[in-house]
Amino acid sequence: MGEVSLVWLRNDLRLADNPALFAAHQGGGEVLALYVHEAGSAVRAPGAAARWWLHHSLNALGKDLAEIGIKLLIRQGEAASVVCEVAREHGASQVFWNRRYAPAEREIDASVKTTLKEGGVDAHSFPGNVLVEPWEIATGQGKPYSVYTPFWKNLRNMHIPVPLGRPAAQGLLAYAEPDSGYQAPKWSVKLKPYWSIGEQAAALALTRFLDENLSDYPQGRDFPRREATSRLSPHLRFGEISVRQLWHTAQALAHADHRKQELVDKFLSELAWRDFNYHQLYHRTDIATAPMQPKYAAMPWRVAARDLAAWQQGRTGIPLVDAGMREMWETGFMQNRVRMLTASLLTKNLLVDWRQGEQWFWDCLIDADIANNPANWQWVAGSGMDASPYFRIFNPVTQGERFDAEGDYVRRWVPELDELPDPWIHQPWAAPGDVLAKAGVQLGSTYPLPIVDLKQSRQRALDAVRSL
Ligand code: FAD
Repeated sequence: MGEVSLVWLRNDLRLADNPALFAAHQGGGEVLALYVHEAGSAVRAPGAAARWWLHHSLNALGKDLAEIGIKLLIRQGEAASVVCEVAREHGASQVFWNRRYAPAEREIDASVKTTLKEGGVDAHSFPGNVLVEPWEIATGQGKPYSVYTPFWKNLRNMHIPVPLGRPAAQGLLAYAEPDSGYQAPKWSVKLKPYWSIGEQAAALALTRFLDENLSDYPQGRDFPRREATSRLSPHLRFGEISVRQLWHTAQALAHADHRKQELVDKFLSELAWRDFNYHQLYHRTDIATAPMQPKYAAMPWRVAARDLAAWQQGRTGIPLVDAGMREMWETGFMQNRVRMLTASLLTKNLLVDWRQGEQWFWDCLIDADIANNPANWQWVAGSGMDASPYFRIFNPVTQGERFDAEGDYVRRWVPELDELPDPWIHQPWAAPGDVLAKAGVQLGSTYPLPIVDLKQSRQRALDAVRSL
């Protein structure tokens, strides 16, 4: 019997630029792949929308791997025992994986490595999920970064490894084991039309973005209805495409045509935010539960179940916020500026703990990411490293007038305001009675009255932060 190598896949559900898969394949023996739905550990389980994506992503991956003769096994349980059991069962002499960075994940990976070694199995880990690993980049004093701009300036000039190719076929399998333990919930039907899942879909999304949207990216990315961004975040979340592939494909475009350098740089700088958040994830204690600035532990958050529910359901009476929350409910996605506005309303105007909002996004977003979601929530709430200044409290009315001037985005997701003229679309409560009547809007009946006074609540938030 020849050598068997096992590749333990996690957030790297792709064939191309997959260092662990590549190295296992280089060994020349038989390669097997394994995905474990981790249970019974401190590893954060995917939220409901992300779990739906994961199911389809695994099925796509299983087929892609079968085409090159690699079987994907899908198991459930504690990674520490499952990985070792599977290795033993199949006589694997080596196990390969790409590294992950959350404290609980690192602890598990270290214990798997030790157990494998005790059983005479070699474990090899690789960098596959970030541009540079969190310990490879440091300030002039050799410390972790807490401010984004110098992090980006440093990263910009670092060597980012060139992506690896796909492993060559070692045969062809007629059958791929499906992700059979998952029963798609009824609500997931609504997500389907919006998304194509898997490595091929990710590559197409990148090409489409660079061909069609890059020229409008720096300006258009702030306008929710322009859809000028890449929508690659769920693909990146599950590693259907690597961030190094994005980096080098975009750079190649700028090398071929220098006039595109500025556009490409803007895109790369956003990818750097992702790496910056992974840098925080690695260097700090649990960023999903502990404020990165310790003084925020004393923040006088309100316990406000009704406000939280109205926010979750898109019934705050503030149109742009409601549009965003409903978009996420319907599609599993929300545009970045609207994410900032909805998070600002919850944590600042409503003074509800950012962890409650983070958890809701974790459950509803298909791209809910272990570093990006909590770090961005902390950025908006003010408790993050290099957070938005405490006095920046987004005003959803003026933001709407600027980024959704004709109200197209609000009308798309809050159809009960469809007939309201533009000057009132972002503040129906200020519209004269006859305008509301003509538009068929009855505040408090067909559409809610605002649950919070934006001006007074802004002052309350400022006072709360000053009290720290
Ligand atoms: P593009 O503009 O095309 O950007 C390309 C990629 O760069 C993104 O896919 C993403 O990986 C990265 N990126 C862009 N903006 C950011 C950012 N602000 N922070 C970190 N990375 C960024 N992003 C997630 O991937 N998962 C999350 O769970 C998540 N939660 C968020 C919660 C809040 C409250 C906020 C304000 C932002 C959150 N973001 C999250 C960041 C950002 O909104 C999304 O990455 C972006 O909207 C995804 O769309 P895109 O792929 O079209 O982005």
